[in-house]
Amino acid sequence: MSSPTPEFVRAPVDGPCVAVFTTRRGGSSHGPYAALNLGGTVEDAPADVAANRQAVCAALGVDPESVVVGRQVHGAHVRHVGSGEVPSPFLDASHVWRDGDGLVSSLPGVGVGVFAADCLSVLLWRRDLPKVAAVHAGWRGLVAGILEGAVTQLGPAARLGAAIGPGIGPCCYPVSVEIRDRFVARFGEQVLAGDAVDLVGAARAALVGAGLAASAVWSLETCTSCDGDRWFSFRRDGAPTGRQLGLIWPISSSVWTGP
Ligand SMILES: [Zn+2]
Repeated sequence: MSSPTPEFVRAPVDGPCVAVFTTRRGGSSHGPYAALNLGGTVEDAPADVAANRQAVCAALGVDPESVVVGRQVHGAHVRHVGSGEVPSPFLDASHVWRDGDGLVSSLPGVGVGVFAADCLSVLLWRRDLPKVAAVHAGWRGLVAGILEGAVTQLGPAARLGAAIGPGIGPCCYPVSVEIRDRFVARFGEQVLAGDAVDLVGAARAALVGAGLAASAVWSLETCTSCDGDRWFSFRRDGAPTGRQLGLIWPISSSVWTGP
């Protein structure tokens, strides 16, 4: 039997990099993890996760030993990936990674990834040189300023582009009044939708507030909870469920032909 082909969405980038968001389609995992679960912390069979990660890398033409991810703790810490982190044990589904909800790579060919299943994956890049970031941005990270922190690390903001990946929409994300108040204090009333918050709206507000042009922020505009054929959603399915991957890697400026 031939292995399934992983499905992913390529984000439009205008810098020397490649940015993709995987969906749940086209993988080897079963049950609540079907099919393309890429998360290693969700009690899926490690061999299936490894096969899925291998298949994604093969489909993208990426060396799995050049894909670095962080242990995500809903924090706001953004850190640079060093050359000592390659070769990476990306195919080891049980590897315990160094903390990092935001990772920056300026090593051509070395990708940085984030896992999510409702939280936003936000990928950022420099237009003028090979430098990128992958950010796990749930409500805690957004309120704590992780996107602004990533912009500071990549900056200047006027030279950046951003792609906001799949996440839970305001249609499906009612939250407590305490959380709503924190969002309003940070981003204004426009990020509320009744008793829900609009994570994409908040991410846009954070990026534009940090200096990006509104036109430099692209969004996939989908709701992980509404579209169960395409996305894992923790809010919808609870545990166990799988994780999508957002992945971005810089390419050498010398081989980049422009947007
Ligand atoms: Zn929805």
